[in-house]
Amino acid sequence: MLPIFDAHMHYSRESWAAYPPEKIQALLDSLSVTSALVSSAPDEGTFRLKAVLGDRVIPMLGPYRNGADVFSWARDGTIVPYVESAYRAGQHRGFGEFHLNVGQISLPVVRNVIAFAQSRNLFLQAHADARAVAELLNYVGSDQIVLWAHAGVTATPEQIDALLAKWPKLSVELSLRDDIAPQGQLDPKWRDLLLRYSDRFMVGTDTWTVGGSYTGNERWDAYATIVNRIRGWLMQLPDDPRAAIAYKNAERFLAQLPR
Ligand SMILES: [Zn+2]
Repeated sequence: MLPIFDAHMHYSRESWAAYPPEKIQALLDSLSVTSALVSSAPDEGTFRLKAVLGDRVIPMLGPYRNGADVFSWARDGTIVPYVESAYRAGQHRGFGEFHLNVGQISLPVVRNVIAFAQSRNLFLQAHADARAVAELLNYVGSDQIVLWAHAGVTATPEQIDALLAKWPKLSVELSLRDDIAPQGQLDPKWRDLLLRYSDRFMVGTDTWTVGGSYTGNERWDAYATIVNRIRGWLMQLPDDPRAAIAYKNAERFLAQLPR
C-alpha cells in the first residue's frame, strides 16, 4: 500500500481517553501512515503519542494549551511563556500549527513567538488564508521555511501557484482540502498544480478535536475515511509525483531542516 506521511496531526487532551496511543498506532499501521507532524493542545499530547510511536511522531511546538486558545492566542501574553516552557530542544522540529488572521502579523505576541521559533531554527506551520500567509512570508522573509497548512483552506490553485512561484522555501500541506477531488475525481486545475509543483506538496488529515461543529473525536473516528479519500486522488497521479506528495517530500523536507 502507498505509504502516507500525515503532515497535519493533533493528539490533544480530548483524544487521550477515547484514543489511547496504542489504538492510534494500530490505526496508522492499518492505513500505512508511516509518520506524522504532530502538534497538540497541550503539548504533552504529542509526547504521549511519541512514547508509543517513537520516531514516527515528529513533534511540532504548538501555541495552544486547549481548544479555546486557538481563537485568542494572538492577543494573549501568557502564550509566550507557555511556548517557551513547552519547548524541548532537539525534539520539536517546527512551530505550529498556529492560526493567523489578516493583520495579526503585527501583534506583539505573534512576533514574540515567531522570534522564539526562529531562534530555535523551527520551521513555521501556519493556518492562514492567502492574504495572511503572504503577510507572514513578507515579514519572515525568503530564508524562513514555512509549511502552509491546508493550502490556506480557501486559497485557489491560482493563488497557491503565485505564492509557490514567489517563495521557494514555502511548502504546502493539503489537509482539509476535499475540493482537490470532488466525488473522488481529481480536479483538473489541482492536478495541473500538483504536477507543476510536485516537490512542494504534502498530505495531511487534521485530527483536531473540540472546535467548529465538533464536540470530541469526530476526526479520529473518520480517520480511515479521510486517509482513503486522500489515497484515492493520489492514485490518479503518475507514479513519481504520487510518491513525492504521499511521503517523499515530507521526508526530504525534514532531512533538510537545520538542527
Ligand atoms: Zn489543525
